[in-house]
Amino acid sequence: MNINKNGEVRECKRCGKMFFYAGTGKCICSSCKAEDESEFNIVKEYIYDNFSATILEVSRETGVRVARIKSYLKDGRLIIPDGSSIFLNCEVCGTNIKFGRLCRECAGSLSNEMKREMNINEFQIGEKPNNSNLGKMRFLDDK
Ligand SMILES: [Zn+2]
Ligand SMILES: [Zn+2]
Repeated sequence: MNINKNGEVRECKRCGKMFFYAGTGKCICSSCKAEDESEFNIVKEYIYDNFSATILEVSRETGVRVARIKSYLKDGRLIIPDGSSIFLNCEVCGTNIKFGRLCRECAGSLSNEMKREMNINEFQIGEKPNNSNLGKMRFLDDK
């Protein structure tokens, strides 16, 4: 692999514009990064002010795409507050988690090789929500 310590010109993953990438963090240009930050803050505030909102409602009210909200959660940037109607499932056992892609139990039972294959980072290992709040959770695939 070609490692360039001084950064390089790359294509922004979000808008496709060429920009100078310093080699760390997400490969997005500075204007997309600023947009991402402000969207992130809007979503975060909305979720903490509106516990009962589902992810679809959050998306509708904030104008931020569901996929993007989920990526905030999966990357551990955003943590679902206790009592929220938003849910995430562990990719292995399907249990509810507050952020990330795997619950601690599954992360603990997977070999490092498996985690590498699934592209799991330490920050993507999430906590389970408080059990007392489980009854309030609604599921997207509820009929
Ligand atoms: Zn961009
Ligand atoms: Zn699990």
